[in-house]
Amino acid sequence: MIDIRRSRLPHTGVTIFTQMSALANETQAINLSQGFPDFSVDPRLIDGVLAYMREGRNQYAPMQGVMPLRENISEKVFRLAAHRYDPATEITVTSGATEAVFCAISACLQPGDEAIIIEPAYDAYIPAITLSHAIPRPSAMRYPPYRIDWDHVRDLISAKTRLIILNSPHNPTGAILQREDIEALRQIVALGDILIVSDEVYEHIVFDGMTHESMSRYPDLAERSFVISSFGKTYHATGWKIGYCLAPAALSREFQKIHQFVTFASNTPIQYALADMIADASSYLELGAFYQQKRDLFRSLIASSRFSLLPCQGTYFQMLDYADISQEADTEFAIRMTREFGVAAIPPSVFYSDGQDNHVLRFCFAKNDETLKAAAEKLCRI
Ligand code: PMP
Ligand code: GLN
Repeated sequence: MIDIRRSRLPHTGVTIFTQMSALANETQAINLSQGFPDFSVDPRLIDGVLAYMREGRNQYAPMQGVMPLRENISEKVFRLAAHRYDPATEITVTSGATEAVFCAISACLQPGDEAIIIEPAYDAYIPAITLSHAIPRPSAMRYPPYRIDWDHVRDLISAKTRLIILNSPHNPTGAILQREDIEALRQIVALGDILIVSDEVYEHIVFDGMTHESMSRYPDLAERSFVISSFGKTYHATGWKIGYCLAPAALSREFQKIHQFVTFASNTPIQYALADMIADASSYLELGAFYQQKRDLFRSLIASSRFSLLPCQGTYFQMLDYADISQEADTEFAIRMTREFGVAAIPPSVFYSDGQDNHVLRFCFAKNDETLKAAAEKLCRI
């Protein structure tokens, strides 16, 4: 038996996504908790993977990723952000964004360094900081609506601050970074030797004509950033676990030192198929409009319920305020709603170090219209 006092992550349990999906399965509830689509992957992509497998592309990929994929990622980013990442030295294909987040954070932090995170924060960040013997410094977003409190972030900066972790479009709030956020960030990182890990997995899921403010659009930010994305989100294939990390050569070198021992290389035939897919820009440029229709449908279906709708500028998550229904803790209400009303959602308090509870739940709308209608019908009965 391992002595729990010797655990490297003594306060960490199984993720809320695992917990809520298990409860949804057990109770046969409609699962709007863990973020994954219930519709199919583009047949061109599936045919591509099969073709590359049959062609014999079944052995280790290069540690950095197959070259056609790195080249086409470079092209895509140049097209969107006018920044040219060198496929030979500045792009690494990873086993999902989760792996990229872990490698990037581990590459930045020495024991005792401080890393600023914006809360509610995706649950993968703090464990990676802790495993590096570094210290997370959380800054809660102002609410409502959810916006980064840059004055508070500035107050957290110290001589030990080495890293700030950003996520836009933001999971779970659906907020996106705007131009004024970028200006505030620029001033803050210039205060010290501060690196940025920018989790941009929902980069193509931005609504209402707004712009995704990638770090790669700003040379002074790009030079200190690890920019992370995931094909799971873009191509409705969360189970394929392929992502990537863009960073200047010196940072990519440190990143790859870790990546090569975490996983060495990622799935080969899927990488080749993705390389072909992203060569067709419409495959990602149309994603925002596709999900905007889902967001609008879900919002219109919920409008007559007792939930209040919070803004949603990006991602495939809608936050709903249930304060008019119940004063229960969000973790309790999420469980009761799953059991009694048959819809599972995520309680965002678990994404705060201090458990801040705003009486809201996160609902994933990456679902067929029929699923959304069936879920909304149940939610309107509450
Ligand atoms: N970051 C955020 C903000 C996410 O929401 C997710 C997954 N939904 C990830 C990282 C992990 O992505 P992947 O599934 O590619 O590992
Ligand atoms: N990122 C997904 C979400 O936010 C879940 C990923 C996971 O289950 N680890 O729902």
